[in-house]
This record gives sequence, structure tokens and C-alpha cells, in this order.
Amino acid sequence: SYQKVLEENRKLYNQVQDLKGNIRVYCRVRPFLPGQPNSLSTVDHLDDGNITITTPSKYGKEGKKSFTFNKVFGPSGTQEEVFADTQPLIRSVLDGYNVCIFAYGQTGSGKTHTMTGPSDLTKETLGVNYRALIEIRNSSQKGFNVPDANLVPVTSTSDVLNLMNLGHKNRAVSATAMNDRSSRSHSCLTVHVQGKNMTSGTILRGSMHLVDLAGSERVDKSEVLGDRLKEATHINKSLSALGDVIASLAQKNSHVPYRNSKLTQLLQDSLGGQAKTLMFVHVSPELNAVGETLSTLKFAERVSTVELGSARANKEGSDVKELREQISSLKAALARKE
Ligand code: ADP
Ligand code: MG
Repeated sequence: SYQKVLEENRKLYNQVQDLKGNIRVYCRVRPFLPGQPNSLSTVDHLDDGNITITTPSKYGKEGKKSFTFNKVFGPSGTQEEVFADTQPLIRSVLDGYNVCIFAYGQTGSGKTHTMTGPSDLTKETLGVNYRALIEIRNSSQKGFNVPDANLVPVTSTSDVLNLMNLGHKNRAVSATAMNDRSSRSHSCLTVHVQGKNMTSGTILRGSMHLVDLAGSERVDKSEVLGDRLKEATHINKSLSALGDVIASLAQKNSHVPYRNSKLTQLLQDSLGGQAKTLMFVHVSPELNAVGETLSTLKFAERVSTVELGSARANKEGSDVKELREQISSLKAALARKE
């Protein structure tokens, strides 16, 4: 039984570790698209947590560079597999956590594919947005009582209309969307969830930002003019503001420049240490994309070094309290054995 106590203790320790907020980074490599030659890829090697990129001399300084992330999905990774590793985070929204999931990468690398899915959407190819909403709606059957069900789109986009068409009942979801699927704009779906734990009566409020960021590529100014240029530079500004916020969090600076862009203001709650954050970093396999791929992965590496404080539920749920109590009683039991 001593063994059992140790085992229990370890399990609880892991659960508590899991409740700690930090930034997770998942890397996803897009497959070659139909009609593209697929013999040459910049991805030299990948496994569950590592990816190695090869630069052929023609495209820059020849060499290999490896990166480590919490998870690496190869070109054959499915939407279902990606969601299986996202689901625990979505579930924590129901426990009252703020969760932020954002998709980063150059245009064409698969951000929208991950977050929404391809244009010819099927049940199998539904992206994280749909699966997350379905998960939260289904939650009403898992002991979450949702008295006032509503879904309120503030600015409609086709994505949100599609979500509404899913037409599930018993949801306490309000969604706000901004912008469209353009590669030059960010697209953000915000979901607020309020739930009541039927056994303890605790009210929990969680929120979830699902962000499909603008393309991270450097904008060639000769290609965009006038308002488009203003828009493009503005968006690049907000991505670099995001980079600055992340760098300053990584350096544990006392001042974090959230106010420098709308995007970082929006994400402040999610990046500030009270939340759980997941970044999907997307990579195109083509040789001529290797420059952007490397700068994308370097950015992601920087993001993954950020340590946030412990994530906290907006109202301490009985789950956390219960875990704490169990831990102290297990510690006491262990002490008695020693
Ligand atoms: P982004 O949003 O980053 O600009 P998209 O998500 O639009 O890129 O992806 C570009 C193209 O590649 C689309 O046709 C998309 O369906 C396809 N694609 C992206 N990722 C995958 C994937 N993992 N599997 C299959 N097709 C993908
Ligand atoms: Mg897109």
C-alpha cells in the first residue's frame, strides 16, 4: 500500500503539473499539395518532438538545424490526431481557465487548415475551431448545466455562420469574430463559457481565443500599394509586437509591452501567466520556403522558452481544491511511513 500511496502521489503531482500554465508549442508540417513534386523537402527528419531542417546551398548557407517542440506533427498527421493533443486544453476551459490557441506560419503553410479545415470540409477534416466548439457543447452532457444558451456573433464571418449551422443546443457560448480568411489579417474566434458544477455548485468562467494569425512572411513592399500596404505594415507591426511581448516574457522583464498592438492587447489575458497558451507553428515543406521556415521555427523556439506563472482558474474549482487536499493528506500519509 506504500507503493500505492507513492503511485497516487505521482499521479496527483502530474495532474497538478498539468494545471500549471506554460506555453506549449506544436509544430505541424504541411504535406506537398496534389500536383507538387514531393521528392525534395526541407524537412530532413522529424519525430514526435523534434524536427530537422536542411538548407540546400542554392537557398542559403548549406546546413542542418534541429528544433525541439512539445509535439511535432508530420505531413501525414490528421486533424483528429492534432485535436487529440489539443482536447485537454479545451477541457480546461470548462474548469474555468483562459485558453489561447494561435496558429502561426507563412501564408500557405496550413494555419487555416489546422484552425478551420480545408474549404471542402468533411467530418474528418474539421479543424480545431469546430472540434473545440463541439467539445464545449457536448460538455452539457457531462455534468455542466448551462441555463441560458446563446451564441452571439458580433461580426459575422462565414466561419461563424458555419459554426451556428452546427446548431447544437444547451451551449453557453458567445462567439466574437473579426476579419476574414485573408492572409493579411488575423482571424479570431473568442468563446466565453460559463458552467456550473452540478455536484459542488461552483460557477466557473472560462474563455478561449482561437486565433488564425496573418501570414508571418516578410511583406515585399513592391507588391502592395496604398491601403493594402498600410494594412500589411500594420499587420506586420502586430506580429512583431507579439514577438516583442514574447521576448519580454522570456526575459522575465517587469514591463511587457502589451499595448503596442490590438493583437497583443487582445491576447494579454492569455499571455500574461493566468492562462494556458498553445501555439501551432506551421511549416511548408518546399525548398524555396526554407528561409521563412527557419525564421518561423526560430520564432517558435523563442516562444517555447517562455515560462509563465501558474495558470489559475477564474474561480477556484472544487477539482483543484480537492487535489490540494488529497496532496496534503497523501504527504501526511507518506510522512507517517517514513
Ligand atoms: P494558410 O492559412 O497558412 O495560408 P492554408 O491552411 O490555407 O494555409 O493551406 C494552404 C493549402 O494547403 C490549402 O489548400 C490547404 O487545404 C492545404 N493544406 C494545409 N495543411 C494541410 C494538411 N495538413 N493536409 C492537407 N492539406 C493541407
Ligand atoms: Mg489562412
